[in-house]
Amino acid sequence: MSIENLQIRPATIADAAFIAKNVMAAMGHDEVYSGGGEEWLQQLIPHMEIICQREDVLYSWKRSYIAEVNGIPAGSLTAYEGTDYKETQTRTFSLFDGPLNFDLDLMQDETREGEFYLDSAAVLPEFRGQGIGRALLQFGITKGKELGVDYVTLLVSPQNPKAKRLYRSLGFRDAGEVFAFGEYFQRMKMDTAEPMRIDILTVLPEMFGGFLNCSIVERAQRMGLVDIHVHNLRDWTLDKHKKVDDYPYGGCAGMVMTCEPIDRCISALKAERDYDQIIFTSPDGEQFDQPMANELSMCKNMIILCGHFKGIDWRIREHLITKEVSIGDYVLTGGELAAAVMTDAIVRIIPGVIGDEQSALSDSFQDNLLAPPVYTRPADYKGWKVPEVLLSGHEKNIRNWELEQALERTKRLRPDLLEG
Ligand code: SAH
Repeated sequence: MSIENLQIRPATIADAAFIAKNVMAAMGHDEVYSGGGEEWLQQLIPHMEIICQREDVLYSWKRSYIAEVNGIPAGSLTAYEGTDYKETQTRTFSLFDGPLNFDLDLMQDETREGEFYLDSAAVLPEFRGQGIGRALLQFGITKGKELGVDYVTLLVSPQNPKAKRLYRSLGFRDAGEVFAFGEYFQRMKMDTAEPMRIDILTVLPEMFGGFLNCSIVERAQRMGLVDIHVHNLRDWTLDKHKKVDDYPYGGCAGMVMTCEPIDRCISALKAERDYDQIIFTSPDGEQFDQPMANELSMCKNMIILCGHFKGIDWRIREHLITKEVSIGDYVLTGGELAAAVMTDAIVRIIPGVIGDEQSALSDSFQDNLLAPPVYTRPADYKGWKVPEVLLSGHEKNIRNWELEQALERTKRLRPDLLEG
């Protein structure tokens, strides 16, 4: 079956019974679907149905969305804003008949003001493994963004690493713990703020295709953490030949990029938003390094202009450019590779882009040290052995060894880094 037949729609009151089971399944009680499970669970189902029929409770049909495959309900999402959470929670639980199997007083708030909270998402067993859960969550994320909240949040049981991996791949990050329903849950959140935006201006947009669609840079865009736009300067010319260059004054060899397309493109972008930096890639610019990447990764919006031929008309550099950056003391044919290098280095350190944030921070240069050697399995390859200490499992010795190695390599290979 193809996910193309999937539709997500707001629930109606007629969906209450379906939602009730899904809310309970999302709480870890998959047995509700099969009719098995303990007696209390089966007894709870009709209560839950009545609750879901109401409009003023946590699990209301009004707060729910149904995923349908070929018109058949396959799963649902119940999600809501954190405003008035406490009040709604108290009302919801006071409606349950009989004692609850957890202490309501000990229950911490699952959500709060400023959040869109994905309370329960569940897919029927026979519809699993097709990406329906992911689609429901993505729907919830989009809804949260539309509502203009600061964060989209959810809770996950530490006993469910698979769900946690799914949430991480969607861009959720760990945000503490919540004690609810008698156990600890991990809280995860996603920042819904507008992502960083990078506009790249070039005469060779085709050079960016592969680069932007691979690996971490691709993932960062998919996760909505960066928005990258490539503009073809030829689209901004006014003459019918789409000419972007002309002979230099003074009669020297080579061609120079003209002012008009660059100015028109930059002006159009600036009319739409403020830019923190308008960067020109140039071999005579300030040398790009990790501190500059760190600083640029804090920008909200930036333009990177790629030069070509002999360079660009000087007046653009004087009047429009705020920063000139070189990626090293050599001359490239164009600024495209320089822009790609900078974009890669900047994007990978935007918070949330690399799953294990520690991993980006422990790279070379982040602490003025070169990275220590790394190894993976097997421990013995053709008699080439992994250092004993890494196999010891002794956390402190391992960290010490890594630091020693990093220091030794930096002293030997890049003593200049230790002087700064
Ligand atoms: N005549 C120029 C070089 C032109 S190379 C000079 O001597 O300075 C063409 C374009 O490639 C440049 O305008 C610049 O955008 C880009 N470029 C070349 N080398 C670069 C480098 N090391 N870093 C960043 N951009 C570079």
